[in-house]
Amino acid sequence: MVDTSHAATDRADTLRRHGLRATAGRVAVLTYVDRHPHVTAADVFEGIRQELPSTSSQAVHNVLADLHACGILRRTDLPDSSGAQYETRTGDNHHHVQCVECGRVEDVDCVVGHASCLTPSDDHGMRIFTADVTFRGICGSCEPARTDRTD
Ligand SMILES: [Zn+2]
Ligand SMILES: [Zn+2]
Repeated sequence: MVDTSHAATDRADTLRRHGLRATAGRVAVLTYVDRHPHVTAADVFEGIRQELPSTSSQAVHNVLADLHACGILRRTDLPDSSGAQYETRTGDNHHHVQCVECGRVEDVDCVVGHASCLTPSDDHGMRIFTADVTFRGICGSCEPARTDRTD
């Protein structure tokens, strides 16, 4: 990969702008999530432990919680996932489509481009500012396998 040092500086800047110290652990977690959207804490831990042998599963959980709390990461809880999924694409109220077979998750742009793109039939007196929709289906790799099954 080209120019990774520049990217690392950008990520350190992002952390500092949000009032966090740019520790090696935070930069590593942020870099990993930026490159692999919709990863769980376990995925991140697996992904960075080589590069950062001193890290622990608990440390990764803590960093994800911190980055989510200050708005750097978006956290989504999807039905068939082993845990909450994190991504760096925040603030655009995008939705997700999830394959019910393999759990693959992709982004779906918000329909009108700003939050919330849906209007509830009854808002129960609440001021609505976000709508998270998860479309569920079968992806192109799983569909043939499902049709081939004889049961
Ligand atoms: Zn699939
Ligand atoms: Zn997403």
